[in-house]
Amino acid sequence: MNMSTLKLSFNRIWFNKLPLRKLRFRWTVIVVLAVAVVGCATSGINKGDFNFVTSSEEVAMGKEFAGEIETQFEIYDDAQLAAYVQNVGGRIAAVCHRQDIEYHFTVVNKDEMNAFALPGGYIYIYTGLMPVLDNEAQLAAVLAHEVGHVTARHSTERLTAMYGAQIAVSLLLGENPQEYKVLIANIFSTTGFLAYSRANEFEADRLGTAYTSLAGYDPEGMAELLGKFIDTESREPSKLEEWLSTHPPARDRIGKVDVLAASLPLAGIGERNAARYAEMKARLP
Ligand SMILES: [Zn+2]
Repeated sequence: MNMSTLKLSFNRIWFNKLPLRKLRFRWTVIVVLAVAVVGCATSGINKGDFNFVTSSEEVAMGKEFAGEIETQFEIYDDAQLAAYVQNVGGRIAAVCHRQDIEYHFTVVNKDEMNAFALPGGYIYIYTGLMPVLDNEAQLAAVLAHEVGHVTARHSTERLTAMYGAQIAVSLLLGENPQEYKVLIANIFSTTGFLAYSRANEFEADRLGTAYTSLAGYDPEGMAELLGKFIDTESREPSKLEEWLSTHPPARDRIGKVDVLAASLPLAGIGERNAARYAEMKARLP
């Protein structure tokens, strides 16, 4: 199947499933008014949420956060693995809705099953999650879920909701550098800025699943990934503390993802690259 056929069916699937479609007209009126008054920006995907941070401001903020992450987290030191993860993530980034920013994918050395996205396209995956996965399609699914949060601009929507526009703007202007440290220190608390709503999580799942298919991967990787989380929830919940404080249980998500994946063009036939993934897995601690 060629790229334009893929894109066509992707658009059909995506727009048919847009949950806020019915509300679009009303929200468009409100958003246009809000933009006129205060110059707010929304993600363009989840039009129901206000966001007072522009895209370039978001990138500046993400850069500050990423600098803070590197002081508080240990980045895994393996250039080949780093290049591989950046490459798989880059394939997802190349087909996603938001092309005005650069995407950075980084491996964190921590024995927990987690991945997260900062504002502005800074995405992290833990060494504790990678060994549990069986193939590149599942890795692509993790990264694509996080890219979904970035394209829908969930983190800045959440920061705007938490702080209000004025403080969000002073934060991104670097007027309060201590606040970055506090936000990163509490990043996985249930009141932290990555504690998205369930609707946000389902949106990231839906966007991410579609992105994996568009990038040439088997979209069933997303349901397989959630299956891994369900297994670990019962066997080794201590590995999921951070993930569970910021995500709804995987069993609530897997059904929706399964139905969506089955409707996508590459279901069951997209790339999985298990052998290449196994080689990379051998480089983990
Ligand atoms: Zn998420």
